[in-house]
Amino acid sequence: MEMNSSKISPEEEGAVKIAIRERPIIQKSRENLQSIVAYHSTNKNIIIVNERPYEFDYCLGPHISQRELYDELVQPLVRKTLQGYFCSALAYGQTGTGKTFTMGLHSEYFSGDNVGVIPRALEDIFALSADEGNPPDIAVSFVEIYNEKVYDLLAEDTNEQVNIKGFKFSGGVRKPIINAQEGFTVLTNGNKCRHIRPTKLNPESSRSHAIFTIHVCRKTEFSQINSLLHLVDLAGSEGVRRTGHQGVAFTEGVHINQGLLSIGKVLQALAYKRKVVPYRDSVLSSVLQDSLKANSYLTLLACISPFQEDLSETVSTLRFAADAKSLKHTPQINAI
Ligand code: ADP
Repeated sequence: MEMNSSKISPEEEGAVKIAIRERPIIQKSRENLQSIVAYHSTNKNIIIVNERPYEFDYCLGPHISQRELYDELVQPLVRKTLQGYFCSALAYGQTGTGKTFTMGLHSEYFSGDNVGVIPRALEDIFALSADEGNPPDIAVSFVEIYNEKVYDLLAEDTNEQVNIKGFKFSGGVRKPIINAQEGFTVLTNGNKCRHIRPTKLNPESSRSHAIFTIHVCRKTEFSQINSLLHLVDLAGSEGVRRTGHQGVAFTEGVHINQGLLSIGKVLQALAYKRKVVPYRDSVLSSVLQDSLKANSYLTLLACISPFQEDLSETVSTLRFAADAKSLKHTPQINAI
């Protein structure tokens, strides 16, 4: 059983949360199929795949709603961001398992029951700070990483590759917003500029990483606290192994793998408190550097498929998530 026996001290508990989300079977023609994912009868933290149990902070079955997921896993991050911490929620998994749905990246997920994480977080960041005497300044940024290059989706020329000097990324253009609606507009316009457009029917949509960030700045007479919440829809984790593409698609696959593997290596180095954390191994890990540090809050939403033919990818996602479980973070406020 892949369980982490090391104790987490009270102040560190909860700073890293690992959740598994199983996508429901949505195809009419397959609705009678039995899912390969089973849930432990008494321990809600355990799922069983291929007769093997895996333990996580949350094992979310196919019936879990967008609201339940958000309330349990992301709203706490919004609150922490407002308190001054660096936070991130990463959706990881094979293409088609619900990463984009979960994050709510498309405008079709901005209203109704299926509203995803990003629009809910935008609503909440304003709702939760509305009654404050001195509400913070809110801004958003939106970048895409494709073939190991960063594209700023809010820049004037969104085809221009952003120079990430020495692999330390400045964060890109920040658009100040005064309500959630303005955030939705930024998201919609940014999506239009993506190199690989995130459309529901486009199987290529999962070949780039999308990072939407909410920045919070609190100024008082004596100090300034900057915090942020990265909401990340990672590229499909299947990479080259399964897709077997040639040419451009092959290069993309290699780059996707490089980015995702580097995130795995960063998480491992942090988990084992290694002196050198390889943030600069990939563009993805260098862009996410600040929020992957041990002083931040991190939630991993690992999305998995119910289907037998996806078993090896599901096991690989569960292993990635299991590795991240050993992380122990001690968040700190980033005050200037
Ligand atoms: P990914 O981003 O991982 O490639 P998508 O988010 O595009 O996957 O999801 C694939 C399909 O499954 C989409 O049609 C999406 O609307 C649907 N889907 C994913 N998760 C759910 C869910 N929890 N409930 C209903 N439909 C879902």
